[in-house]
Amino acid sequence: MTILELDSLVSGALAGERLRSEDALAILTDPNIDLLSLVHAAWQVREARWGRTVQVHIINNAANGKCPEDCSYCTQGKNSSVDIEEYSMKSREEILAEAQRAHENGAFRYCMVFSGRGPSNTRTDELASLVREIKDRWPIEVCVSAGLLDDPKAAVLAEAGLDRLNHNLNTSEEHYAEICTTHTYQDRLETLRAAKRNGIEACSGLIAGMGEPASDLVEIAQTLRDLEAESIPVNFLLPFEGNDLVEPTGLTPEYCLRVLCMFRFANPTAEIRIAAGREFHLRSLEPLALYPANSLFLEGYLNAKGAASNRTYQMITDNGFEIVSEYSAESLVAQAERAADEQPVELAGNSVIKTIDDLRPSFLGPEGLVT
Ligand code: SF4
Repeated sequence: MTILELDSLVSGALAGERLRSEDALAILTDPNIDLLSLVHAAWQVREARWGRTVQVHIINNAANGKCPEDCSYCTQGKNSSVDIEEYSMKSREEILAEAQRAHENGAFRYCMVFSGRGPSNTRTDELASLVREIKDRWPIEVCVSAGLLDDPKAAVLAEAGLDRLNHNLNTSEEHYAEICTTHTYQDRLETLRAAKRNGIEACSGLIAGMGEPASDLVEIAQTLRDLEAESIPVNFLLPFEGNDLVEPTGLTPEYCLRVLCMFRFANPTAEIRIAAGREFHLRSLEPLALYPANSLFLEGYLNAKGAASNRTYQMITDNGFEIVSEYSAESLVAQAERAADEQPVELAGNSVIKTIDDLRPSFLGPEGLVT
């Protein structure tokens, strides 16, 4: 693909035209497409919608492990023997304390994740009540990831003011049965449709590196466009000994960057998030990922540690991007440096499991709790 052809991809994306699947595949697989030219082209599309802003998301594992599902990539699934900290739903006080902490740490969005197949009616009411209180107390967007949902449950959460529902498609319809047998791709798609029908934004992404051909990633990108997903977390499989699916396939730093660029062209106005595996797979190309993507996770991913927050904030500001927060970038960096001095976090060059202190920082004493 020449510079001229890349220019026409940019103008097509800016005009809202659908990315042709053959162009999407070429972005992923054609070595003649120069990487920096591609990143520059994706940047033009990203800049038109998001400027230089970066949204920071912090995940709270509000219920961890003990899941009856068998998703082969997941440390919380029933077949996984990875030694994670398991607990049922955190107390209301603990979840609220962590929402406050996420806000003070510069999070634009607070993501509450509950392991399991899906919430009961009682759990859905509890979630709705939590969403209501968080929205009342702090100016922070709220996202919930709680498994499969139907229309009545989505309506309860929508009424409480939930901004977004996360439910990842993860892989293509064709490949789905190879990564999970306890629910289907269609189940996942229906959950996202229920969210959209009830006025909740859809956050749905993928995990690259699970043995899928590049064309599967193209299919996911097109499906998410059809769904009008507002947010797309792009994960890269992290290897955890003890999961059914351990070894990532085909993930080089360059390929990961191409995946992010392809999702930007296919979904020009969506929030494209660099998610799990950011440090591990992008390695020294990580800062370049901010050019196609406009958001990232801070403080790791579910049960995997990420890089120290100060390093991530520094990467954002060193590259001239702006963190979306009511706090200044300087104060966020300084605060993260103080925290790193107290509790150093190693750069996640490996898949490192979170400790109970990472997962439940407000659990250890009443002083951490919101009263
Ligand atoms: S991805 Fe979700 S549903 Fe699947 S095993 Fe993990 S927690 Fe359970």
